[in-house]
Amino acid sequence: MARKKMLWQLYPSYLVIIILAIIALAWYAVWSQKKFYLEQTTRNLDVRAQILEKQIAELVRVENYRAVDSLCKEVGSKINTRFTVILPDGTVVGDTEEDPARMENHRTRPEISEALKGTSGLSTRFSNTLQMKLMYRAIPLLWDGRQLGVIRTSIPITFIDDALSDVRTKMALGGLVIALIASLTCLIISRRITRPLQHLKHGAERFSKGYLNRKLLVPDTEEIGGLAEAMNEMAAQLNQRINTITRQRTEQEAILLSMAEGVLAVDRDERIININKTAAEFFNVDPEEITQRILHEVIRNTALQQLVARIFEEKEMVEATIILVGEAQRFLQATGSILRDAAGEAIGAVVVLNDVTRIRELENLRRDFVANVSHELRTPITSIQGFVETLQDGALENPEDAERFLKIIAKHADRLNSIIEDLLSLSRIEQAPEITFTSGRLIDIVNSAVEDCETAARTKNITLKTVGDELLKFKFNHTLIEQALVNLLNNAIKFSKEKDTVIISFEKDSREVRLSVEDHGPGIPEKHQPRIFERFYRVDKARSRELGGTGLGLAIVKHIALAHGGRISLKSTVGEGSTFTLHIPFK
Ligand code: ADP
Repeated sequence: MARKKMLWQLYPSYLVIIILAIIALAWYAVWSQKKFYLEQTTRNLDVRAQILEKQIAELVRVENYRAVDSLCKEVGSKINTRFTVILPDGTVVGDTEEDPARMENHRTRPEISEALKGTSGLSTRFSNTLQMKLMYRAIPLLWDGRQLGVIRTSIPITFIDDALSDVRTKMALGGLVIALIASLTCLIISRRITRPLQHLKHGAERFSKGYLNRKLLVPDTEEIGGLAEAMNEMAAQLNQRINTITRQRTEQEAILLSMAEGVLAVDRDERIININKTAAEFFNVDPEEITQRILHEVIRNTALQQLVARIFEEKEMVEATIILVGEAQRFLQATGSILRDAAGEAIGAVVVLNDVTRIRELENLRRDFVANVSHELRTPITSIQGFVETLQDGALENPEDAERFLKIIAKHADRLNSIIEDLLSLSRIEQAPEITFTSGRLIDIVNSAVEDCETAARTKNITLKTVGDELLKFKFNHTLIEQALVNLLNNAIKFSKEKDTVIISFEKDSREVRLSVEDHGPGIPEKHQPRIFERFYRVDKARSRELGGTGLGLAIVKHIALAHGGRISLKSTVGEGSTFTLHIPFK
């Protein structure tokens, strides 16, 4: 429906009311004026009749009709009034204007028939005799309580019409002027009423466009002023709420964004309503691109789809493991629950994804480690048990065999001891991150380690050569670095050929100290290099054991480097040799 301006609804109504009021007033004024004139004229006619009443009554009583007629004519012409005298049978016996003999019976004239009944009669009509509008007043003609006839007085009343038409013209002119002034006033008043409303309308439009800070002017009209204040208050509250919601949303988004867990929310139609950065990275998708799209169309992971379906089915918390296949397999621990609105109505589902790949790897490592330790310990124990049984079974009786077996038992016991020693030192390094660092010259530690390994080197005629700045000083844990160096030296000696040279070198740059052990042994094939620092990992198990290795040496070296905030690196070429380097950053 087309809407009209309020001004054009108010203004015409005002105008109509005013015009109607003016018309009613004018009509009433004319009507009361006319009434006044008529009453005045009636009274006038009564008075005139009363002047002649007595004389005429006497003349009629004696039936001197001629005298009656001349009286009528004489007095009537003098006071400009028409007198007519009528007998009870309607016969006219005297008239100012006419010869009564020529006048018809007047009994049926309304005013006459009224007066004949004994009351005064009144009538206004066009007179055929005088050819003008007349007012007729008839009163009973009485003598001693007996009605002798009727005296009728009449005068032209065109003067009333003239007077009234003059009043009408003046009223019309006056009314027009008043109507004009009133309509102008109405227009001004209507505008005054609608203008503040117009302002409010513009203000409300501004609010709807989001400019909630711009307040409305408060007009001094109580109702409209109150409305403007209420609207300002509403806008302020709205502004505050929008700010709160925006802040909460930003906070929420920041939380979601920075969460290590992936979060994914879908609505009832499985349309994605929110996905955080972590979750998007898990599934390798762009969050902006897939929001509002159907889950299974954009993330092709059956386990995830089944989980979401289960959430909607079971309506309670559900868990599942999601495996991501890619370059490296990843395991996600997914927990899903139903999303409800304030009324408790289910509106979607939310899934929280935890990357448990590392935990799984650690678990596997721990499991492997336990299995490895058991295996490593079982081998010497089984041998010891075997030889003890052989001794019990009679080998003791042959002293040569007995001594040989006991030597083997002792060797295995030593091996058990070394494994346990190594395991203990490994766990000590791992469990004590708060190791102490003291400043000292590296050459002292190198010399001490070389001394420890000299016997082993001498048995294979191996030369241990040291290259490095003797004054190089830094903060480190002396015992641990010496142990790492001994382990590396032992390996280098073990794997070197007779008469080889093992070079121990150290240097520093602006960031770190590097301590290397270089040998010219068999080297380590590339495929084994990444795993060489794992516990119990060996390139050739049998050979390592034969050489007295526990498989823990390099793991210990790696952990010593980590405890110093550093690392270990390896450069090795099969057939040429290996160089192990400890990198220790300055403290
Ligand atoms: P192990 O006690 O068996 O020597 P490590 O942890 O010290 O245990 O070494 C692991 C494996 O790495 C060894 O079994 C060996 O196969 C290889 N390895 C270590 N050092 C050298 C080296 N200098 N030259 C060749 N292979 C080496």
